[in-house]
Amino acid sequence: MTANTAEYVGLDVGGTFLKGARIDETGRVLSRLHEPIRKESREALLAQFAGAVKTLEQDVPVAGVGIGLPGIVDIGSGRLRSAPNLSALNGLDLAAEISQRTGRRSFPENDANAAALAEAWLGAGRDAETVLLVTLGTGIGGGLVFHGRIWAGRSGYAGEIGHLQVEPEGARCGCGSWGCLETIAGIAGWVRRAERPSRAASPRCAGRASSARRSSWARRRTATPSPWRSSTTPPVRSGSGWRRH
Ligand SMILES: [Zn+2]
Repeated sequence: MTANTAEYVGLDVGGTFLKGARIDETGRVLSRLHEPIRKESREALLAQFAGAVKTLEQDVPVAGVGIGLPGIVDIGSGRLRSAPNLSALNGLDLAAEISQRTGRRSFPENDANAAALAEAWLGAGRDAETVLLVTLGTGIGGGLVFHGRIWAGRSGYAGEIGHLQVEPEGARCGCGSWGCLETIAGIAGWVRRAERPSRAASPRCAGRASSARRSSWARRRTATPSPWRSSTTPPVRSGSGWRRH
């Protein structure tokens, strides 16, 4: 490391794994980290994040910490507003929590937005004016970058294609809605279909499934509207839609 070259830590917080890296100003990866996520409690998660920063720093203080999160980060406050696959962090001011524990400036961002920005900077979208990135992991995320800047939308949900409703009578999603793309093409959807008895092999089971589907439709009609469905819930308005960082 030269005297004028800053280094940074990036953390990718997933529903199953925590991944991290230390990079220099050119994006070159200097060290990596990959470990199972400790989501038994909020405190366990925060301790793991702080420990990961310390491990990656290797006694060389970094200039800042970027944190990609599987949820919506409020544009104005920096709080994690909704994390369907990591609910222990809901409502948390993660920038303040990580900064307090590590002494480093921290910048939380939706993980797909962060990945899209990285691809626009150094990856597949390097020469493109507009970039859409789709993430396939525990859930499904999406991020939009226009002319080198993240477009989060007025409510912060722009690009979140995993929570587009594609099957109105489908399975309940972690976001509170029903039949989101994530419930079909995410890990839980694949597992559910693999475990489901085939209709041809068991007509009685097929009948029960049909009955269960009807009752789930009835439940949906009385369910609390999901914050992911801006058509039913007015979005929180806090900013122009462009990320500042
Ligand atoms: Zn959803």
